[in-house]
Amino acid sequence: MVRIGAHVDQDDPLAHAAAREAEVVQFFLGDPQGFKGPVMPESADAIRESDVQVFVHAPYLINVATTNNRIRIPSRKLLEGQLKAAAELGATGLIVHGGHLNKGEDPQKGFDNWGKVFERMDCPIPVLIENTAGGDNAMTRHLDTIARLWDAVTAKAREPEKIGFCLDTCHAHAAGENLEGIVDRVMAITGRIDPGPLQRLA
Ligand SMILES: [Zn+2]
Repeated sequence: MVRIGAHVDQDDPLAHAAAREAEVVQFFLGDPQGFKGPVMPESADAIRESDVQVFVHAPYLINVATTNNRIRIPSRKLLEGQLKAAAELGATGLIVHGGHLNKGEDPQKGFDNWGKVFERMDCPIPVLIENTAGGDNAMTRHLDTIARLWDAVTAKAREPEKIGFCLDTCHAHAAGENLEGIVDRVMAITGRIDPGPLQRLA
């Protein structure tokens, strides 16, 4: 059975889930546009004990692919902190955008940087890399780069079973990907670790 849910506000995720009869929710832990560490919701205990399945979305600014150290290094730290916090909350996975390089840079550098993340980072719960809508040199805008990214991350990972994918169909459409059969085409690249919920992003 496919579970259906929504992206909800982090102020009271369970109340928002109940209002929508959602079986699964996604929310942020803190400012989605900031570089500060995660903020736990006040209802963390209740969330942990609840039957509602939880996914946490990492801040948008995270870009572990970039060649710019001043963004990549804090991004890795933030990703790790978010992953820990999401695990403490009993989340099923942490969703993070694939990131991008600057125009003209060799995309392989970005795939390699992603590989290094999983070479080093402990993953208490799965990291679900999400496809993005735009960008000239984005890691996960198109299926061909997703396939190259997957080769890089699964080759280096200590725990490859902790790497998953979150398909945002809105982003895929905006990126110009054909949505016909896209779930199967993506899963042929990334495999599957969970009978995934449909998530709708605002
Ligand atoms: Zn997203």
